[in-house]
Amino acid sequence: MNKRELLYYLKTENERDITDLFRTAYQIKTDNVGNTVYLRGLIEFSNICDKNCYYCGIRHDNRQLERYFLKKEEILEAARQAVNFHYGSVVLQSGECRETTFTTFVDDLVREIKGLGPSPGVTLCTGEQSYAVYKQWFDAGAHRYLLRIETSNRDLYSRLHPSDHSFEKRLHCLEMLKNIGYQVGTGFLIGAPGQTLENLAGDLLFLKKFDIDMIGMGPFLPHPQTIYATKTLNMSEKKKRFLLSLKMIALCRILLKDVNIASTTALQALDPQGREKALQVGANVIMPTLTPSQYRPQYLLYEGKPCITDSASDCRTCLTRRITAFGEKIGWDQWGDSPHFFNRTQSRVHD
Ligand code: SAM
Ligand code: SF4
Repeated sequence: MNKRELLYYLKTENERDITDLFRTAYQIKTDNVGNTVYLRGLIEFSNICDKNCYYCGIRHDNRQLERYFLKKEEILEAARQAVNFHYGSVVLQSGECRETTFTTFVDDLVREIKGLGPSPGVTLCTGEQSYAVYKQWFDAGAHRYLLRIETSNRDLYSRLHPSDHSFEKRLHCLEMLKNIGYQVGTGFLIGAPGQTLENLAGDLLFLKKFDIDMIGMGPFLPHPQTIYATKTLNMSEKKKRFLLSLKMIALCRILLKDVNIASTTALQALDPQGREKALQVGANVIMPTLTPSQYRPQYLLYEGKPCITDSASDCRTCLTRRITAFGEKIGWDQWGDSPHFFNRTQSRVHD
């Protein structure tokens, strides 16, 4: 699809075209990556962040937030739970810190998690770091990294971030991750303030041009302690943003074919069946939370984040039911790596 066609589908309200788009995307998904859903236990291990992205609830300057940093044993306990739940992989996510105490802590943590049996796949999502740190973590055993570019449009990026946050630096980080050998994931905020449908069409083409392995994108949702507090969505805006998010996932699948696409939690904040519906239009990865429940209210990136009070085992039961009810299978105990990565590099990291 070219930009004009992408834009047509992003704009269209024609129900037949939308149904065709979703049906095609699902077919391309099953042809290229099957109908197995891979699980990544998500551990949000710290909400301490040195950055100030204007949209984010845990930004550094939000003084109303109580900060936490999980003890290593608490994180390992959550990782053990991922192994016992047969999730196959964990995602370690946090605010961005660059101090050596932090980078060494993550290094040790990854090594210990990889030592669990059976060794889970480890994805990191801990922001912008130096080449040396990314390499150190890769050598420790992390093999996937998520770093959303947020928007591929430089002007919009500069409006969504303070002037000391750099689009070029973020792009450079993605390049470094790729050169080191990570499976690289990126994505966008969908419906960010000031964003146009042209921007989103450009975002899709960016993914193709950058030859990305994994996609994690989701709707922008306002947080009351940010400058976007006034942008609270009414019912019809929620529906529109949800549909736009599904269209982005479907177009992404049609355009990129063999990548992994996450069905993000934010989708469920807009629609009670949001994550399952995303599986029907091209997504194939879900990240059930393993963050200890007492810390979850302090990791609110946006208002209305779901699953705040459920226990880790409630989440497992609920997601299993939801995924299988829609006819998809679950890849228990599998890493579920991005086939695109192997097609791109012609190598194998893991059998
Ligand atoms: N600090 C790391 C980073 O920024 O890459 C990882 C954690 S950060 C909380 C993960 C993602 O949360 C960001 O990439 C951003 O897209 C998303 N996020 C932050 N605020 C959001 C909001 N208000 N609505 C939807 N997603 C949001
Ligand atoms: Fe920090 Fe990530 Fe939030 Fe930006 S999006 S403020 S880097 S946690």
